[in-house]
Amino acid sequence: MNYIILDLEWNQAAYKVDEEAELPFEIIEIGAVKLNKNAEIIDEFTALIRPQVYPFLVRRTREITGLSDDDLDREGIYFEEVAADFLAWCGRDFIFGIWGPGDLTQLEKNMAYYNIRVPWRYPFKYLDVQKLYALQQKEGKTRRTLESVIDLLGIERDRPFHRALDDAVYTARVFEQLDREHFESYFSVDYYRLPRNRFEETTFYFDTYSKYVSRKFPLKEELVKNRRIREIYCLKCRRKLKKEIPWFSDGGRSYFCTGRCKDHGLMRGRIRVKVTEDHSGFFGVRTVKQCTGEDEALIMGRREHMKKRRREHRKREATNS
Ligand SMILES: [Zn+2]
Repeated sequence: MNYIILDLEWNQAAYKVDEEAELPFEIIEIGAVKLNKNAEIIDEFTALIRPQVYPFLVRRTREITGLSDDDLDREGIYFEEVAADFLAWCGRDFIFGIWGPGDLTQLEKNMAYYNIRVPWRYPFKYLDVQKLYALQQKEGKTRRTLESVIDLLGIERDRPFHRALDDAVYTARVFEQLDREHFESYFSVDYYRLPRNRFEETTFYFDTYSKYVSRKFPLKEELVKNRRIREIYCLKCRRKLKKEIPWFSDGGRSYFCTGRCKDHGLMRGRIRVKVTEDHSGFFGVRTVKQCTGEDEALIMGRREHMKKRRREHRKREATNS
């Protein structure tokens, strides 16, 4: 299996009123390198795209990429054609490596806009090199720019930044330095294409947590009341757990609960409510991880805080009426 390290450049409307709702970002360049299993570059793909939605590059895009309207006029090829070439070039047996989740979403969005069928299997796994770097450095949720990581790793700056192929090559060089055997199990899951029905909803098990992605629900209330998203399973034996602290909202976009496995101890569940890419509904990502004493105290604290807020709210309502 090959790795395909992908990078895109895109353009947008100069003014919000001119924005095409279905395509806020129009891809103007695709760059990618194909790596063998030892992370050595064996092929490359580069193409400029002739814009069809936003005919002029906004200043920011011109400044970042150094591209001009003339360049795209002269060398650009229509997206439909480039996408077909690119999909053929990717082949069948590959996994994407991408700096952050954004480029994959934009690629799929542009493909959807032109009614190009996505041939990739579902659910679609990819490697987020930006996240894997943070994991390797034990930096948690920190996300660094590609450029800063190149400097931190002491990789030579022998080509410019912010053109698709150049950034793909730099991303490949970071990828090469990762402990790949260890990190390949930390794949990410594409959230652009969601499960279409409950049969496609999947739980992924990782070393230290599990992740479940739900289908789309028109209303947030329907999502958080759904029976399946509210179930939690032991990370080790995958037994369904009885809740110790039932689901409660943190007042924002997250819900928490705990459940205990008699063999493997306390687990904590979390549901993150997310808005779908096209803003037509909601989906949930439920993670389960083993609870440390500290986690348990944190959850108890959160719950107490929410209870207190509700009590105060009721008191205020009572005084007002
Ligand atoms: Zn268990």
